[in-house]
Amino acid sequence: MPGTVARSAREVRRSPARHRRDGSGRGNRYRLLVHLTLAVELWMRVEANSKRRLQNEHVSNYAYSELKYICEHSEAYLSDNTSRDLGARERQVIGRAKGVLLDWDGCIAIENQILPRAGDLIAMHCDKVAIVSNNSTHLPADFVDFLSAQGIDFAPERVFLAGAAALQAMACDKDARVLLLSVPRMHDYAHELGVVLDNRNPNVVLIMRDSSFSYPKLELAANALKAGARLIAANADLSHPGSDNRIVPETGALLAALLACSNNPEMSWQLIGKPGPLLFSQACETIGIAASDAVMIGDNPQTDGEGAANAGIQSILVGRNSLLSLEHLVEHDCSLTCGLRSKSLD
Ligand SMILES: [Mg+2]
Repeated sequence: MPGTVARSAREVRRSPARHRRDGSGRGNRYRLLVHLTLAVELWMRVEANSKRRLQNEHVSNYAYSELKYICEHSEAYLSDNTSRDLGARERQVIGRAKGVLLDWDGCIAIENQILPRAGDLIAMHCDKVAIVSNNSTHLPADFVDFLSAQGIDFAPERVFLAGAAALQAMACDKDARVLLLSVPRMHDYAHELGVVLDNRNPNVVLIMRDSSFSYPKLELAANALKAGARLIAANADLSHPGSDNRIVPETGALLAALLACSNNPEMSWQLIGKPGPLLFSQACETIGIAASDAVMIGDNPQTDGEGAANAGIQSILVGRNSLLSLEHLVEHDCSLTCGLRSKSLD
């Protein structure tokens, strides 16, 4: 009878046994809610940026990229997760890959504190891991120290950072006279590499995350650009996640201020880090693999997702913009198969 069928269907929907059978019904509805909330929030950001008519189009493009990525992947995630445990497909992808490229901020570390399962993930794939980060305040040796403090041995040759790469590029350009906006650590590295630093008559303005960025620095850089200097940015990230969900302003926020001063939305500038191809290619070359044999794991749909795709590398999104966390990418018995202090460069 129709009434009987309807009543039975309601009973099935209300029955806790349904959740026990598929093991993920409630979790998927919660994840769907989180997904939709994220999508609405990001769409509002796009709209807000549009209304403000920001001169720097990459700001709204960035938010749009996040929204586009999430919407495109929502259907796949939701359909997949009805029949499997979260992360199973991604663990297979990582297992098959010959190189595992890891983002740093918001992926395996928050404010340089290593996240709980990051050590397990590195240990599982110890001989094929590289770190590929837009960080522009530290050097590979610093990252090795951060990891070592958590009992993880890591070779500095497998750490690829946007700030260090930018200064290495400047060291190769013998004509460059560089106005460097950065933390003192990177100034010291510039001197070490022999980069010519020139605040009076620069022909290059190199901008990184500069925690002492100021009005005088902005004025100096803006007028250097007006006089014809080239503009190079270590990265264009607006922020990265800090502890307690704090926003850590990134190079892109400072870059936006500088571009605003130019009053020229078409002004060209060069990007060193992700989503550009340089760091990806350096990492693959060092590991000794083709881009198609690597997988990039990160938290940023644009820099890690689109950047990897443009380089021919598949990607897995974790963290703030994903249903996945590192927990989902780690086999539960990993500690039995690989020790933490076992990593070294071949
Ligand atoms: Mg990140």
